[in-house]
Amino acid sequence: VLRKTFVMLPKVIAISNQKGGVGKTTTAVNFSAGLSARGYKVLLIDTDHQASCTVAFGLKREFDNRSIYAALVGLSPIQDCIIPTGYRNLDLIPSTPHLVGAEIEMVNFIDREYKLTEKLEPIKPLYDFIIIDCPPSLGIVPVNSLLAADSIIIPLQCEFFGIEGLELILGTLKIIQKRLKPSLYVEGILLTLHDAYNRVSTQILELMRENFGDLVFDTYIPRDPAFIDATAVQVPVILSKSPSKGADAYDRLILEFLEKYNLGKRKFN
Ligand code: ADP
Ligand code: MG
Repeated sequence: VLRKTFVMLPKVIAISNQKGGVGKTTTAVNFSAGLSARGYKVLLIDTDHQASCTVAFGLKREFDNRSIYAALVGLSPIQDCIIPTGYRNLDLIPSTPHLVGAEIEMVNFIDREYKLTEKLEPIKPLYDFIIIDCPPSLGIVPVNSLLAADSIIIPLQCEFFGIEGLELILGTLKIIQKRLKPSLYVEGILLTLHDAYNRVSTQILELMRENFGDLVFDTYIPRDPAFIDATAVQVPVILSKSPSKGADAYDRLILEFLEKYNLGKRKFN
């Protein structure tokens, strides 16, 4: 039920898990940046009020009128909320702490669950991929993200409590598929924060592969201090000049994703 049997290139991909600290933002930032470095035109949308994506690119959190909040509540046209990141092929719609308020402001909107779907329509043709970083919660805004998406990537930390998070998000997804959007599918479960020196970490990796088969990406992301340095220098690991295991892993993930849709390593644009 969760995976599509035929292959159609997704344009909008949500990075989602109701648990925090599992690598959602890190994945959203590096997946977007890596695709853009390979020549694809990418829009990253930050829908977490903590605005971590915005910070990851060294942008200030002062985009109240040019943010996903402004777009969702109709304060500004979405086109005006797109900010260039300074990297080629990569744009960002930032978040703001005000996004918390959107949950309340949107309660009486008609089709409130489909606002993001509606807003994305005119800008979709401008991009090859639109990546949505979701918050670790489930309110109107995250539901908007899931409904706007063609598929979702679920980052999951290689730890015991990681599995609980998975049950939660798969449950949510099943409800969404059943009631609201049958076409939504899981792009893949991405195992993150893998610690080669920790036996549990590898056990989780094996357990997940046994239970979820090819729903789990072959690529997994190692725990790598480079991600902490990246936060300090505000350059995504995958775009950093210094090589790292973390950057390699995200690049392999991108190749795995592209190859699944026969896009291979070809650069276009
Ligand atoms: P989420 O968005 O799910 O809350 P983040 O991507 O913000 O998770 O990651 C949580 C923290 O873990 C951040 O400080 C981030 O820098 C760090 N982190 C994420 N992935 C890795 C990794 N592979 N190795 C080391 N640290 C990581
Ligand atoms: Mg996050």
